[in-house]
Amino acid sequence: MKTATGTTLISNGQLIDGTGAPPVPKAVLVIKDGHIQYAGPAAGAPAAPPDAQCIDARGGTIMPGLIEAHIHLTYFNVTELQDLDIKFPVEYVTLQSAVNARLALECGYTSARSGGCLHNIDVWMKKAIEEDMIPGPRLSASGREICGAGGLMDWNPDYRRIGMEGIVFIVNGPEQARTAVRKLVKDGIEWVKTYPTGDAASPNINDHHTLCMTFEEMHAVVATAHNHNLKVTGHCRATEGIRNALKAGYDAIEHGTFMDDECLELLLKRNVPMCPGLGFELFSVQRGKDFGLSQRVIDGHQETLEGGAESCRKVLKAGGAIGLGGDYGFGWTPHGTYAQELTFFVNYVGFSVLDTLKCATLGGAKIMGRAHELGSLEKGKLADVLVVNGDVAKNISLLEDRANLLAVLQGGVLKAGKLAPRTEVIIPSLIR
Ligand SMILES: [Zn+2]
Repeated sequence: MKTATGTTLISNGQLIDGTGAPPVPKAVLVIKDGHIQYAGPAAGAPAAPPDAQCIDARGGTIMPGLIEAHIHLTYFNVTELQDLDIKFPVEYVTLQSAVNARLALECGYTSARSGGCLHNIDVWMKKAIEEDMIPGPRLSASGREICGAGGLMDWNPDYRRIGMEGIVFIVNGPEQARTAVRKLVKDGIEWVKTYPTGDAASPNINDHHTLCMTFEEMHAVVATAHNHNLKVTGHCRATEGIRNALKAGYDAIEHGTFMDDECLELLLKRNVPMCPGLGFELFSVQRGKDFGLSQRVIDGHQETLEGGAESCRKVLKAGGAIGLGGDYGFGWTPHGTYAQELTFFVNYVGFSVLDTLKCATLGGAKIMGRAHELGSLEKGKLADVLVVNGDVAKNISLLEDRANLLAVLQGGVLKAGKLAPRTEVIIPSLIR
């Protein structure tokens, strides 16, 4: 992805740097050649050259670009599990993913880590975004997922003779788990996404208390993935699933719903980041009926919501790393509504605004393994920046409305927001 050349000065706003530090009033952000040169009070800012590009924050908020820590670019108005897989052909899903990627960037998400996708679309989407062929967040790709046979993601009845290879490798035993990871190595992914447990959303018996992989399978995944320098994460609801994942050497935990003290200790010991993706539970309880969810499933989401909120508070209090995002793309949580996760964490879970913003920026960068260059407005980092009309520290829900974004920058380049130039289709001169 190209970075800007020259100097850009963003002034006339408060600065929230994403580290959890209190906002700096009357701040200035100076960007030089796509990287942050200065972030702090206007009084201490270096003199800008006369040809510097200036962005007026209009008394609003200057903050790091948001990071979606668990995005599914290939989800599109999902209302039942089957929609994740065979609703549309891969050609159409690829186009939808490109639209979702652009939308995420326009919503202020300058980076995203994939929580799994159909076929290998996110790997190629990442390449297209990195080469500036299409707009979108900087991506960490996951490709297809891994689940034990008969588990959450193995939903097609055998009599239909429909394979699941488009979305997930169904494995039986450590040998098949190794085989699946080796296929993913060739696909070019970064994160191996697995299913240690079921979920309240399961239409059958694989609810949130069910295990969907054995420890031996999970351990085989980790050993193979780490050998090839890939990282491993997993959908972990039940306590036993979280424990298995942490003991097997997982590099991140998705959801971490029913986290007991032993799991918390294991999580902290290796500094394993967690992405709760919890807003989905509340929104499923609130809106699921309209989309035909059964009372049993809604009750399961309620239990998950309460357990998950408690776990998040525990992890935050203990100093664990949390990234925000999760599973947007369902009928009742469509793409483009990602920032309601932040409002939910403040209003429902009880996080402070600054803690929530830290999780939604620096926390995501930690999960991506790129905290040294992304996630906060600190000297030397890439200038992935949002300029928001209004006081985000007072009202985090301002981020939910794209109309409040004045500027979305990636590497100092103004990509979206009200101040961005009208976008044109750029034909890359060289497609590698
Ligand atoms: Zn997910």
